[in-house]
Amino acid sequence: MKYNKVLENIKTYEAGKPIELVVREFGIAAEDVVKLASNENPIGTSPAVKQAIIDNAGKAHLYPDDSMFELKDALAKKYKVNENNIIIGAGSDQVLEFIARAVLDETSSVLMSAVTFAMYEIYAKQMGAKIYRTASYEHRYDEFIEAYRMHKPKIIYLCTPNNPTGDATSKEEVLKIIHAVDKDTLIVVDGAYMEYAAAKESKYAMEPNDILAYPNVIYLGTFSKAYGLGGMRVGYGIADAEMINQIYKMRPPFNISSLSLAAAIAACKDESFVVESIALHQEQIKRYETFAKDQGFEYIESYTNFITYVFSEQRDSTKIADALLKRGVIIRNLASYGMNAIRITIGTQRQNDIFFKHFLEVIA
Ligand SMILES: *Cc1c(COP(=O)(O)O)cnc(C)c1O
Repeated sequence: MKYNKVLENIKTYEAGKPIELVVREFGIAAEDVVKLASNENPIGTSPAVKQAIIDNAGKAHLYPDDSMFELKDALAKKYKVNENNIIIGAGSDQVLEFIARAVLDETSSVLMSAVTFAMYEIYAKQMGAKIYRTASYEHRYDEFIEAYRMHKPKIIYLCTPNNPTGDATSKEEVLKIIHAVDKDTLIVVDGAYMEYAAAKESKYAMEPNDILAYPNVIYLGTFSKAYGLGGMRVGYGIADAEMINQIYKMRPPFNISSLSLAAAIAACKDESFVVESIALHQEQIKRYETFAKDQGFEYIESYTNFITYVFSEQRDSTKIADALLKRGVIIRNLASYGMNAIRITIGTQRQNDIFFKHFLEVIA
């Protein structure tokens, strides 16, 4: 069997390990496993969301509303945009896929930072496109513009705040990059963690409205992180109506389940849950910063719901991640991103206590 040639250099995305795997492989009870690997919301989901899922269970035999009017309406009100500026995906991941399919082919290239969200590369490679990266993981204007002028990529990915490093790019810097790029290059501003950055420091806060005037720029958001809906798979893209029109042609019908739609609509209307989540996060992340300073670890200042600890040569992130896993603590090893570092999602007080206890023993 001969598969599409583009598959030869695509590595399957390595998802965060599930709790079930640790239970199976190491015989640890599920309630003792601490999962801080996938940037999920540690306090769960809003009670209003759970109620909406229950209330809609009886409609499971019906196809969902394919226009997704109610969710678009809620997002339009939240961001002060029009419904025709919005596309909904099964996670913002699916919107990334639509974008890649809408503009790339085997003659094109894309540009992204040295260390960033792994799916940009995978979707681009699926289309046969070539990948260019800047030298550093920060989104530096000079590096992006130099590479842009040299390679004329069809897509530039700006991930702010950036996953898996946690740093953010200021709105001013993002707009400077947008201004320096011509309209034939599509720019993705991926704000998957924007709620955390905006709450921390206003100069990093970006909204869809900041980019709507540019016909070649799309803003992506997700319900998977601050809204606590990772399991429901809902994300969105907001852009100029003509871009949305074009990308829409790549969308399969009913791409969001009715329960996921109901959950996202309820989540949109319960901002207090996000406020509560961020308050807990801001209190708990301080413990990780203090811990790193006390133990002499380097960390990257985080604008997200996770923190990245960067190790010196004496330590090996793979060994540390494996040792933690055997103890039922799942974190993300960044060796596959070329970094001797680990990424830890900030958990609840109790989860973080367990992390620190095991981590101290592992590094001793
Ligand atoms: C989590 C994440 C997404 C999208 O997640 P979905 O669950 O597919 O919405 C997009 N970009 C980045 C950088 C992420 O970390």
